[in-house]
Amino acid sequence: MEVLLAKPRGFCAGVERAIEIVDRALAQLGAPVYVRHEIVHNRFVVEDLRAKGALFVKELDEVPRGGTVIFSAHGVPKKIFRDAEARGLKVFDATCPLVTKVHVEVAKMLREGNQIVMIGHRGHPESEGTMGQAEEGIHPVGMHLVETLEDVAQLRVRDPARLCYVTQTTLSVDDAAQIVAALRARFPAIRGPKRDDICYATQNRQDAVKFMAPRCDVVIVVGSPNSSNSNRLREVAQKMGVEAHMVDSAADLKPEWLAGKPRVGVTAGASAPELLVNELIERLRQLGAKSVRPLEGAAEHVVFTLPRELARQGRSG
Ligand code: SF4
Repeated sequence: MEVLLAKPRGFCAGVERAIEIVDRALAQLGAPVYVRHEIVHNRFVVEDLRAKGALFVKELDEVPRGGTVIFSAHGVPKKIFRDAEARGLKVFDATCPLVTKVHVEVAKMLREGNQIVMIGHRGHPESEGTMGQAEEGIHPVGMHLVETLEDVAQLRVRDPARLCYVTQTTLSVDDAAQIVAALRARFPAIRGPKRDDICYATQNRQDAVKFMAPRCDVVIVVGSPNSSNSNRLREVAQKMGVEAHMVDSAADLKPEWLAGKPRVGVTAGASAPELLVNELIERLRQLGAKSVRPLEGAAEHVVFTLPRELARQGRSG
């Protein structure tokens, strides 16, 4: 059995920054530091930070007045910033700058009097954060969330001439293109963002799976079940007709997935640490993998700056 390794895979710059923010806040302020929602969607990362003293909470009222709270990489509704201020909380915002870019776009579109269609997944914190940039009473035209072509067919808008769309950053590039095409067919005047909202990391990891999938018999994606971009990687392989599975860790790998499959492709979602990929490779070796072949793919050099207050010492790790 041969293992093919996708390039790029695993951590993106937004995830690295978010983890670094929690690490530094803990180092500078000491435990506990509160984190609203999972900082990134990976069980291993969350458990590691919890062991260092991070306390993950669902809502701000679980943070004692005057405490420190970190907002996750997925971003938060505007109201959450106000609520944090009202509770006297010190905030470090780990929202990925590429999610913030979408929030800035939404604010501009709303200021110009446009109604906005957000293409995203219902219930995902990023969709909730972006939808929460429009506020009741302040932005009466508001926003609509669409997830499927059927949602587009049922959409009722106030003025088709003043309509814009934005997307979640971690969508399937191909599915999003279909939904945008359906929106354009129904509302020809709809305008999109200047630059695509689907981020470089999502695009590159999906491209890498498209390159790898035809070369292998099964694809294993390292990623937690609630990770949007990891699920999309599994779907990309499946849509190309290749069997694909997601594992949170090497322990989830089922030997029967490998039966009669001489080539196994491995990748990891943007929130999955390389350590988990290495453990998976080790498990594959135990199950008979003779070689590991890294594939060619896009090189990434994106690094995001840290909040000024945490940026004083050099990066850890
Ligand atoms: Fe930022 Fe993209 Fe990574 Fe999300 S997947 S944290 S948007 S770089």
